[in-house]
Amino acid sequence: MAKDIFSLLNKNKKPLFTGTVKRIVLWDIAIFFLLFVSSNIFTIAITNKILTDNLDERLKNEIETLVASFRIQQDTIKFVGYSEIKEPDFTTINSGAFFLQVYDKNNKLLLCSDNLKSFGTIPFKIPNIRIRYEFENLTAGNHQLRVIYTPMLNQHNKIEAYLQLSVFRTEYSSIMKKIILFNMLNLPFILLIIVVVSIFLAKKSYAPLNKIINIAENISANNLNARIKYDAHPQDELGRLRDTLNNLFTRLEVQINQISQFTDNASHQLMTPLTALKTELEYILKRERTPDEYKDTLTMLNMQTDKMISIIKSLLIIAKYSSNSEINKNVFKVSQVVNESIKPIFTNHNIGYEIADDLYLRGSYEGFQIVIENLIDNAIKYSPRNSRVIVKAENTDENIIIKVEDPGFGINDEEKEKIFERFYRSVPAMKGNIQGYGLGLCLVKTIVLAMEGKIKVEDNYPTGTKFIISFPSVKVL
Ligand code: ADP
Repeated sequence: MAKDIFSLLNKNKKPLFTGTVKRIVLWDIAIFFLLFVSSNIFTIAITNKILTDNLDERLKNEIETLVASFRIQQDTIKFVGYSEIKEPDFTTINSGAFFLQVYDKNNKLLLCSDNLKSFGTIPFKIPNIRIRYEFENLTAGNHQLRVIYTPMLNQHNKIEAYLQLSVFRTEYSSIMKKIILFNMLNLPFILLIIVVVSIFLAKKSYAPLNKIINIAENISANNLNARIKYDAHPQDELGRLRDTLNNLFTRLEVQINQISQFTDNASHQLMTPLTALKTELEYILKRERTPDEYKDTLTMLNMQTDKMISIIKSLLIIAKYSSNSEINKNVFKVSQVVNESIKPIFTNHNIGYEIADDLYLRGSYEGFQIVIENLIDNAIKYSPRNSRVIVKAENTDENIIIKVEDPGFGINDEEKEKIFERFYRSVPAMKGNIQGYGLGLCLVKTIVLAMEGKIKVEDNYPTGTKFIISFPSVKVL
């Protein structure tokens, strides 16, 4: 039923009641209902207790007066309080009437009030003699009664008789009924108020959220520099949401700009060898060529294809190490990588290796080899011919430090950060016509980060560059 009402109201595009508002309203109703039922049970229990206590107090007072009207001598019981039981409360049946019955120890009726003649007898039981006053609820005919029992003792503390005094519980029952009826009649109105108030509160509390959502919806790839402007304290939930979304947009903007810049650069870098390839092909196909000419062209095509393969290979390795999950996390020895995989590549160069023994790293053996190879390659490329390049690996308390130092033309301070960007090549590198694609250091940094290391570049003295990498050291017993 509630579902139908909600779906009727939800016909337009933006629902009047969203799922969240509906959930809050239903929760409110459920909580209210539970509170209502438990408070009613509590009220009824308390009222019951108060009314019963009042009745019991009345019965106790009256029975004490009656007990005082009996004289017990030896085995005989004498009643001297006739004036008491001749009062209207004992002779007529009104709402405040008392019904008295006195039984002897053999369960024989000794005395009863006059009003019982027209009311009829009230069931009697032998009460618990260990309790001075025993109470119980009784039904006699259509009447609900509250009853008190008390034993009467002789001078030897032996029971001689039992008194039973009863009153109507009618007033009590009608108060209870009134309470229940009042609550039942009020329930629909209270429920209605709860629904209206819940909807109002839910809509009011979600209004700022909707405002933020509307602004966020309008931010697209075309206006990624737009930000949510909503006045709220940064510690406030809405302020935090605004800042979190704005930070996310900033990160997205940076990433999207990087991707588009990368696409530009990659296309540009691949375009150069492809254009050279195309031009060469067009030239050679213009007419018949000699075998030597064909051979020259094919050699040139082979060279350009190698360039493209090299660019794509580097990009693939960067992509692989950027998604950290794909790399191996094995333990390997630094000196083993240098001796087995690095030294054979640079046999014709002037390189000094100062590698401490027993240095271990955790990560990719192949990745680490690419890092060292690229750094040495650069050190050779950007230094005068036959310059001495130094490769060091040493241990500190917590880290393994690897340094590649060259006496080349160095890197100025403004470029020390930029050189790690994809396709970045410094002006001196391009002017000096030094071969490269600007991918080597990006590759190096990506692998170092994937192996939980850090990389920095410093000036070498008196000239040149020093690349310093640190990895968390691995203890091998
Ligand atoms: P590439 O060497 O292909 O240009 P890299 O990413 O390896 O690309 O290097 C980026 C830039 O950093 C280079 O163009 C160069 O200007 C600078 N660079 C790298 N290593 C050195 C070095 N050892 N000395 C001086 N400049 C360097």
